[in-house]
Amino acid sequence: MPKPKRYRCIVCGRYFPEGQGIVIRRAGIELAFHSKTCLAKFFKLFIERIDESEFKRVSRELIKEFEEALKTKQAIKRI
Ligand SMILES: [Zn+2]
Repeated sequence: MPKPKRYRCIVCGRYFPEGQGIVIRRAGIELAFHSKTCLAKFFKLFIERIDESEFKRVSRELIKEFEEALKTKQAIKRI
């Protein structure tokens, strides 16, 4: 049996097995976080440094999506 893959948290250096933690892959880059706290630490810096116009565009888009999802949830509750 192959050994389960292990990841290393890029924030604190802790190792964790596949299925635990949060692993994000995009554009050939793999970001591994052992906990939500480490993910939050990373993304706080990430959004401070990312291009401002791109940040604005994506933020507005996601805020809208979450607002829509909340409306739907509330609509279901009311029924
Ligand atoms: Zn960590």
